[in-house]
Amino acid sequence: MKKILVTGGAGFLGSHLCERLLSEGNDVLCVDNFYTGSKDNVKHLLANRNFELMRHDVTFPLYVEVDEIYNLACPASPPHYQFDPVQTTKTSVHGAINMLGLAKRLRAKILQASTSEVYGDPEIHPQTEDYWGRVNPVGIRSCYDEGKRCAETLFFDYWRQHQVDIKVVRIFNTYGPRMDPNDGRVVSNFIMQALQGKDITIYGDGHQTRSFCYVDDLIDGMIRMMNGPAGFTGPVNIGNPGEFTMLELAQQVIALTESNSKLVFMPLPQDDPKQRQPSIELAKAQLGWQPNVALQDGLLKTIQYFQQVVRQAK
Ligand code: NAD
Ligand code: UDP
Ligand code: UDP
Repeated sequence: MKKILVTGGAGFLGSHLCERLLSEGNDVLCVDNFYTGSKDNVKHLLANRNFELMRHDVTFPLYVEVDEIYNLACPASPPHYQFDPVQTTKTSVHGAINMLGLAKRLRAKILQASTSEVYGDPEIHPQTEDYWGRVNPVGIRSCYDEGKRCAETLFFDYWRQHQVDIKVVRIFNTYGPRMDPNDGRVVSNFIMQALQGKDITIYGDGHQTRSFCYVDDLIDGMIRMMNGPAGFTGPVNIGNPGEFTMLELAQQVIALTESNSKLVFMPLPQDDPKQRQPSIELAKAQLGWQPNVALQDGLLKTIQYFQQVVRQAK
């Protein structure tokens, strides 16, 4: 049995990760300051004697004893990470330093949840890991993009300088049950709007693209990376190459929910990337990983979840 620390474990992805690690027989320590996550996301795990929940902010040092660390702590949706941008950078950078210091002391393997945002508004399509990205260093997305880029730098410097066993995954847009209905991401916004018969808010002309990965596939890729070939540090893209415009996504959501909602067009947020699609050749070759859940199937499961959320709110 391994003792595994998951930071940000009470968030959307973290809660699914804790669940999977427990089901595989591990002992899981979930650390979270509940900034964007919630106890509700992990309440079904609290009765499991191999699960422990600790309120802690990763910008402060943490002294615990574990074998592996998954570092997910960081707000992830644009409205949430822009709400307190200084705290977002602190979480990425000070959080990475503290978790790397912990990994160094314990000689523990550590995985960083990085992001496709390190590519910024990319000129290379699809994005391969060797692309350095096109990121605005002084815009409203920079606290997140540059914070995550600096965290990657720290991971590679702890690896080069202190031989810490690192694993870096670049996560592309992921969706599924337990997304926060109010965090402003496109999948949760569109589904909630469709279920409530509200207007569907398209930012810009809706021709910008994203590639959406269902949460179960993502978690599978993350765990494969942690357990992957020795010395394979990444960075490796984990995402679903199926690429859609926001108009196409809206139309799919309307069809699957049989909603009467209409589309409304709103201003495009500053620095919003025009296109995004992962190249997953490296993940296929090194980890034998590829996603299996088609957008329609994943959306149906997510819609079921949000139907419950809407019912409970009534
Ligand atoms: P989320 O907001 O649901 O989860 C983040 C969790 O981190 C929350 O539980 C939050 O309370 C916690 N947290 C934030 N600051 C903290 C701090 N200082 N100390 C301790 N805990 C803190 O978001 P998510 O979608 O589950 O994202 C998880 C990770 O994956 C993030 O690092 C995010 O950048 C990365 N990621 C997610 C996506 C995606 O599409 N979901 C894409 C790329 C990268
Ligand atoms: N750290 C931690 N837990 C540990 C070991 C270190 O939180 O078990 C933190 C510690 O606060 C330090 C940071 O990680 O500031 C970086 O640690 P490192 O050993 O690299 O640096 P140093 O202690 O020399 O500053
Ligand atoms: N978006 C949209 N309507 C919404 C929320 C988002 O059209 O209600 C767009 C947003 O401008 C972006 C895309 O959907 O082009 C994905 O946005 P999200 O915030 O989910 O993720 P990110 O931009 O970080 O990839």
